[in-house]
Parts: sequence; C-alpha cells; structure tokens
Amino acid sequence: MAITEDRPARVGTFDSTSPATGEVVGSFPLDGPERVATAVARARAAQRGWAELGFDGRRRALQAYKALLVRRTDELVDLVHRENGKPHADALIEVVMIVDHLDWAARNAPRVLGRRRARSTLALANHAASVEYQPLGVVGVLGPWNYPVFTPLGSIAYALAAGNAVVFKPSELTPAVGCFLADTFADAVGDPPVFQVVTGDGSTGHALCLAGVDKVAFTGSPAIGRKVMAACAERLTPVVLELGGKDAMVVDDDADLDAAAEQALWGGMANAGQTCLAVERVYVVDRVYDRFLAKLVERASHVRPGPGPGADFGPITLPRQLETIRRHLDDAFARGARALVGGPDAVRPPYVDPVVLVDVPADALILREETFGPVLPVVRARDAGQAVELANANPYGLGAAVFASRRAEGIARALRSGMASINSVLTYAGMPSLPYGGVGESGFGSVHGPDGLREFTHPKAVTRQRFPLPFGMQSFDRPGFVLPAVRQAMKLRHGRAPRSPRSPRG
Ligand code: NAD
Repeated sequence: MAITEDRPARVGTFDSTSPATGEVVGSFPLDGPERVATAVARARAAQRGWAELGFDGRRRALQAYKALLVRRTDELVDLVHRENGKPHADALIEVVMIVDHLDWAARNAPRVLGRRRARSTLALANHAASVEYQPLGVVGVLGPWNYPVFTPLGSIAYALAAGNAVVFKPSELTPAVGCFLADTFADAVGDPPVFQVVTGDGSTGHALCLAGVDKVAFTGSPAIGRKVMAACAERLTPVVLELGGKDAMVVDDDADLDAAAEQALWGGMANAGQTCLAVERVYVVDRVYDRFLAKLVERASHVRPGPGPGADFGPITLPRQLETIRRHLDDAFARGARALVGGPDAVRPPYVDPVVLVDVPADALILREETFGPVLPVVRARDAGQAVELANANPYGLGAAVFASRRAEGIARALRSGMASINSVLTYAGMPSLPYGGVGESGFGSVHGPDGLREFTHPKAVTRQRFPLPFGMQSFDRPGFVLPAVRQAMKLRHGRAPRSPRSPRG
C-alpha cells in the first residue's frame, strides 16, 4: 500500500505527467529519509507475520493478488498508457507476462526454498544434514519507468513469495503505477503492510539504500547502479543489480529470414526501443545479409509511432533520452553510416521514427552504448564465428537472440549474456522457470525462477548428530590412533588420481 496514514510531515510533492500529452496523471509526496524509515519499520514489524503464514498461506495471498490484478487489468493498462506513454497493447503484454511470474513464484517457493535433507560424508555419517532458504527480512526495490509493472514485480513477487516484506520506490516517472500495484495488493491481501510504496526521485531511492533494509533489488541504469552499490556498501546491505543492455541478434545463413526480420523489428522497436532487452545490434552472416536487410527494410517502412490506439509504439518517455538518441544518430552519420529507413530527422519530440542503419563502424556510439530508441544498426559478418565475436565485444551482457538452425545452440551458448533466445526475441523474460539477469555492465544476481527466489533468502544449514561415535575427531580427549586412522581412510577414499579417459579405440 502507499503509505498515507501516520506520515511524518511532507517534504514536498511532485507531479507525474503523460509524456504524450503533458496531462498531469497524479501528484505524489517526495518522501524523505524519515518517511522511508517509517515504511521500513512498518515492513519489519509486518514481515514476521508474513513469514509465519508459511508457504501455503503466502501462496493463497499472492494468488488472490494475482487474481485481483487480472480483474483490474483494463484499469492498470490504461494507467500505464497514460503515465508511461506506451500503447495499450504494449502495456497489456507487460501484465500478461507478470501474471505468470506471480503464479509461478507463489506455487514453486516451497519446492525451491523448503527444508530438504542434504547428504552426509563417510567421516560424518553419524550426522544428518538439512538446508532451507529463509527470508532476509525487508527488501527495498528500486524500479525504472520503462516497464513499470513487469520489472518491479519481477523482484517483488519473488521476494514476497520467499517470505520478505517489500518497500518499493517506483521511478519518479511512474509513481501512479507503483501505487496501483501496492494498493491492489492491500485490497487483495489486507494488512499487515508487507508491500508498501514510497515515492520520490533519486534522493528517496538513496534514503531507501541507507534505511537498513536487508537487500536492495535495483533495476535501472549502470550509472545509478554504481551509486546504489556504493550507498549499500555503508551498511553491507547486499544488492541485486539489473542494469542496462546493448543486446545483439545474430542471424546465421540457415535462418528463417522472414521470422528473423520480423522479430528484429519488433525486438528493436516495440515500446519505442525503450526495453533493456531491446535488440540494439543485428549481426548478419554475409551470405544472407542482403536478403535479410531487404525484408527488414520493407517491414520497418510500415511501422509508425504515435499517441493513438493504431500506433505501433508510443513516445519517448524520458525527455533527456531524446538527446541520447539524437547524439547516437549524429555520431553514426558523421562516421559514414547510411539510413535505409528514417534518417537524421527521425527525432520528432516526443516521438522517434523507426531508423534502420547500415555501414556503421564498430566504434560508433550506436554500436557501443545503450540507445533506448527505435533504431536498428545492421552489421555484415563474415560468418557466425565473427558475428559472435562482434556481438561479444561490448561491456554489456544482458540478453541476446539467435536466428539459425544447425549452429543455433552453439551460438546461443557462445554469446556473452545472461540470457539468449533462439528463433525468437525476449522469450526468456516471460519464462518464470528461468533466471533473469546479466553479466558485465548489465549487472549481477538474478530475479525470476529458482535463482530469483533464492536471491531474496539466505541458506540455513543445519546438522544433527544422530548417534555419538565412540571416538570422534573433534575432541581434545581423542585417543592417539584416531587421526592416523582418519588419515588412512582419506588416503584410500581420495588419494588416487583419476584414470585418464580411455582412447576411442580402447
Ligand atoms: P535510473 O537508473 O535512472 O533509475 C532507476 C531508479 O533508481 C529510479 O527509481 C530512480 O529514481 C532511482 N534512483 C536514481 N538515483 C538514485 C540513487 N542515487 N540512489 C538510489 N536510487 C536512485 O533508470 P531509469 O531511467 O528509470 O530506467 C532505464 C534504465 O533501466 C535503462 O538503462 C534500462 O536498460 C534499465 N532497465 C534494466 C532492466 C533489467 O531488467 N536489466 C529492466 C528495465 C530497465
């Protein structure tokens, strides 16, 4: 729930506005450290009861939340459209994807986190062992504006299912959506306040990092991720960082080129390219480069941004992002790139028209840094090996896509990224059984899947002596023969080098 009662005095307020029309969507408190501390204290008090509900009780609560979100989908989709600017269709995709995650986290938490026996060793055969994953306590979640439903709930659902309470600070661009998510939880589940929202800008986020939460789940840019990690270091608060991307698509010579072109276009331009997992670079093997490009250009020339329901994508939500897109395009043109769709005038605030670029040199900004716009540079590669090499020559490593047949699995595994999809784009994000996270500048740690549940827990290891041994190792009173005997047993069990593998002829 958004905290409304028992608030210390307001520090100030800010408005969230529609990026398409400028209409004010809502006015929200700029929560300072005091209010953040109040929320964290309430969360800490509420968390005990939530943990005591057990897996079954939490599953029922989360499924009630899921069902209410589903019943309120139209309201939520319309709010996302008004506050973020994306078309209703893009907003609906977010909701559809997160509902499966909520359900999966609620149903699978007992299997992944519940207490289970662990194996003993010969030396400790008289002890039983078990492990379980216990909640951390209170998790602070910092969210971005580009997927204001899918992204924060990807942390929140898993943290709650694991038995934590959550204090969520949505982006200052999408606070109304953040409050809607928490208010719906309160309506479905009631008190105690295990899911609260604080609103504000980076200063509120900073206060949350310093508020003594037990973990911070941050989704946003690498620059702010560094600041979050530095702030959290003060109190040794652990962090999971889901940062930006510069995802590559590789198209091999046996790919279905129609599918590859169609998916490159959608992966690059849906949500106006404002997707951490957007296809931002396409590497196409020489033999099929011209055919792929012709199909991509033909499709891209029909795609249009706009405010209405007929638009393929909406405005650029963050006004300063328009400058980044313009800078990347200017830099590419100055270095000799050519536009086959769109051109230097593509940036028409608050919209950007689709752009397909070729002849882009490898050191151009548009191939190195996150652009976050509907812009697709397409690069010719000698073969799949070179395509992978070029794709991997980038500090980001979030997702990747491969369109191929024979070599598809090998290419997907060779790409330096946390996730990859073969013959589709972004699919892994909607697959709740898979972890989601990046490497390098794209961050570390996971949300989603079993790893995402464990991310918000700590393992608790327990041993129980089943019967005492007449002579144990761990005693000052052990007789003199015990350690030599143990040493002899160790030699017999572990002292032999493994046999070299048999040659194929044997
Ligand atoms: P951002 O880094 O500017 O802000 C993210 C959040 O951090 C916001 O809530 C913001 O208010 C808060 N914040 C700002 N300064 C802070 C500080 N000093 N301490 C604590 N919190 C602070 O990112 P954004 O512009 O909202 O989102 C776009 C970025 O997010 C892109 O780089 C995109 O790739 C990335 N992103 C990544 C994923 C992913 O899953 N990896 C998903 C969505 C977006």
